[in-house]
Amino acid sequence: MAYPKPLERLIAAFERFPGIGRRTAERLAFHVLRDPEAGELAEAVKDAALHTRRCRLCHNVTEDDPCVLCADPARDPALLLVVEEPRDVEAVERARVWRGRYHVLLGAFNPAEGTEERHLTIGPLVQRLSRGEVKELVLATDPDSEGEATAQLVLAAVDRAGLALTVTRLARGVPAGSALEYLHKGVIQDALDYRIPLRTPRA
Ligand SMILES: [Zn+2]
Repeated sequence: MAYPKPLERLIAAFERFPGIGRRTAERLAFHVLRDPEAGELAEAVKDAALHTRRCRLCHNVTEDDPCVLCADPARDPALLLVVEEPRDVEAVERARVWRGRYHVLLGAFNPAEGTEERHLTIGPLVQRLSRGEVKELVLATDPDSEGEATAQLVLAAVDRAGLALTVTRLARGVPAGSALEYLHKGVIQDALDYRIPLRTPRA
């Protein structure tokens, strides 16, 4: 016996989420049916989908474009931290240890799972850097094999463009395999304070 159509539609919507199989999608859908605040959830989903966009400069998720971080004159425009996901920006902001700006790559290089270089915002990053305002690019991709490969792609793109800037990466205070978003403030602070040079302007 099939479920009613509206319920099937809800289950199918949950199934599109990463890591959610049919059984979990069903469980979530039934949870929504029982939830007296389900209307609020529906509104929140719609509101988030309709009223957030990508910042045209840093590609972070935002209500306003450019985002509040790019628009903040108190932030040092010479320092740019490159991260994989908006969640990473959130983690570094929570730690309150970074006074520069950000660039969100919107993923990590992982061809096996369909993320190629062209899916990342490396091209827009190089364009942004070519304006010459940024003096140091800090690579803060995750310390796993995808993050390493991604950092190498960014470095290669900077080299190809012949840009006069320093490139550093976070120190190894970041434990291997742990995503930036889960780190404590002190670890992020150390990783930033002891960042390692990869390239100097004259390299
Ligand atoms: Zn921005």
